[in-house]
Amino acid sequence: FLLQCLLLQGIGRRSSLFKQRCILHGGAVHLVDGGIDLGNAIGLLSPKEVIASTEEKLSLDPSITFTAQPNARFNADNGTRRIQQLFNIKGLDAFGAFEPTDLAALGALIDYIALTQKTDNITLQPPRLQQTGETLLIDNATRRNLELTQTLQGSRTGSLLDTVDCTLTNGGARLLARHFAAPLADLAAINARLDAVQWFIAEQKPRDAIRTQLKQCPDLERALSRLILGRGGARDLAALRDALLYATAIRPHLEKTTATALQAIARNIVLPSSLQDLVQDLQCGLKSELPLLTRDGGFIAEGFDTTLDELLALRQNSKKIIAAAEARYKHASGINTLKIKHNMILGYFIEVTPTFADKAFHTRDPDKEGDSRLFIHRQTLATAARFTTVELADLDKKIAEADARILQIELALFEKFVERIKQNNAALRKIAESLAGLDVATSWAVLATTENYTRPVLDNSLGFTIEKGRHPVVENALKQRNGAARFIANDCALDDGQRLWLLTGPNMAGKSTFLRQNALIVFLAQIGAFVPAARAQIGIVDRLFSRVGAADDLAQGKSTFMVEMIETATIVHQATERSLVILDEIGRGTATFDGLSIAWATLEHLHAHNKCRGIFATHYHELTQLEETLDQLACYTLNVREWQGDIIFLHEVIKGQAEHSYGIHVARLAGMPSSLLTRATTLLQELESHAIGANLS
Ligand code: ATP
Repeated sequence: FLLQCLLLQGIGRRSSLFKQRCILHGGAVHLVDGGIDLGNAIGLLSPKEVIASTEEKLSLDPSITFTAQPNARFNADNGTRRIQQLFNIKGLDAFGAFEPTDLAALGALIDYIALTQKTDNITLQPPRLQQTGETLLIDNATRRNLELTQTLQGSRTGSLLDTVDCTLTNGGARLLARHFAAPLADLAAINARLDAVQWFIAEQKPRDAIRTQLKQCPDLERALSRLILGRGGARDLAALRDALLYATAIRPHLEKTTATALQAIARNIVLPSSLQDLVQDLQCGLKSELPLLTRDGGFIAEGFDTTLDELLALRQNSKKIIAAAEARYKHASGINTLKIKHNMILGYFIEVTPTFADKAFHTRDPDKEGDSRLFIHRQTLATAARFTTVELADLDKKIAEADARILQIELALFEKFVERIKQNNAALRKIAESLAGLDVATSWAVLATTENYTRPVLDNSLGFTIEKGRHPVVENALKQRNGAARFIANDCALDDGQRLWLLTGPNMAGKSTFLRQNALIVFLAQIGAFVPAARAQIGIVDRLFSRVGAADDLAQGKSTFMVEMIETATIVHQATERSLVILDEIGRGTATFDGLSIAWATLEHLHAHNKCRGIFATHYHELTQLEETLDQLACYTLNVREWQGDIIFLHEVIKGQAEHSYGIHVARLAGMPSSLLTRATTLLQELESHAIGANLS
């Protein structure tokens, strides 16, 4: 889609840091500064299309279209000229301090839009330089691992977005997707969103009233974009009119709001007089039933334009005259089956069946003396003979002229409407955004109420305390499953003295679930949503990292272990004190001692250098020894109960360390043959006694 594309320029070929990019997103142009790497920039905006010069070699997610543009298009002078023309300004200072590469990228972007949309009539919001620090950065691997918008299998069902999305409108869904793409890292901005959600939780009446209106409200943003790009029709005009009427109806429900974000929305959806007039004109100007195609006319209501009304009356009258002529011709010719018809080539014509063709030929004109014939031959077909008369040809001409005039007037009126819409583009966009904002805020309120979510407390500390946290997706899945146990909530406190948690526990006990739920709680909190916990205090997180599970990237020529190491390398290079790191089973894809050593060293590195908050899940029970030497490391485990030779998973996170992995138990649950399990048990005992001998237990 046009409004979501990413343009890259001046990219160092071998570097993973990208000097320059210009991003067109939701109608707004963002320039992302060089501190953000390409993966993050793309993840942030989830663009549909990336445009770069032909010289760039990019490996992008296959779902993103890559469009190469000639290098010559990336030219700073052209960019400056283009921007000056587009925004009708002399200097660019008001928009920010742009570097030549920014301007080159912007110029190429505007060229590209003009080329593909075949218009110079581009409407864009001014470019905005996006700074690091505004958003919570999440690289693509983390996005994928946390299954934010799609599961590891690639489906939307089962993702976080699918579970928490209660939006009612397309605009709301699009805004939510944008929030998912770029969670915030700015305290004030997050709290503004949370205040809005909280107000809607407390005030059910306005919430329900607004949602009832939103449910019926057409997609304003889409109608607006189509009209402005010259692709719109009468139905888009009607959609725009109706959306504005819904916005007006919604407005009083925000009268008493105390949330500043909602007060701003309430101000934005007050229609300025120009839009009030437009709505009124669209109310009387458009027919109630509108044609699909605007180019054929037939959409302006009677009584809206006097010239049009006169022409319509004339056309109506001509139809009566034609009916009368048909009756006269029947009488004069004595052919009762004679008909006056119309097609695009002949216009109006007289048609008789071949049997009466001769009779028609010889019909005399009753108004003329002598042998004058009434009908003039036009066409003979196997099934019919066609004629006209001087009078009919004359009428046909008049009607055709009236039709053309009618269409011309209707299209001119349409264009006038579009012109007025263009003049109000900024206000209309704000209204569309506001309606989407209301959809998102009310939907979070609905989710928080029905699913018992709480408001997270965010601050600038480095704290992290979650009480009775839950995994939104697993909890939801358990609810849907008949007879399944309830989700067990767990606490997590990554505070001083235990900034890093080392989590050991049997297979299937819920380690991955616990790891992810804490990352998801941060994510939800920083997009401005309530969270599945009894209490959550979170010192703002700057980057979220997760390495969960293993995935081959064979298409890119990377093995499972290679992918695991690349993802881990990214974390140890980039995680800061403010980051949250979730590591699930590092070093599992290689030989035991190699893996254990890597996991051990990674943990030490995160502790000493990155100093981030984090949870590290592992089956290497040897790592628990590190609790003695690393002062910020604390060991936790998932509680299980052994009962009559069986184990019961309690899914409870408690202080301490796991004794066993119970892998063989899980293998039994999975239906492995009992002879194999007996053999595995014997081997395990042997191996464990050796390991103890080697002092590695
Ligand atoms: P492995 O070590 O084999 O990867 P794991 O310890 O990471 O296992 P999970 O995959 O997190 O285990 O959880 C296994 C299953 O246990 C989940 O699919 C879920 O059904 C259930 N489960 C996990 N946590 C909870 C919980 N807190 N409450 C209820 N059920 C849970």
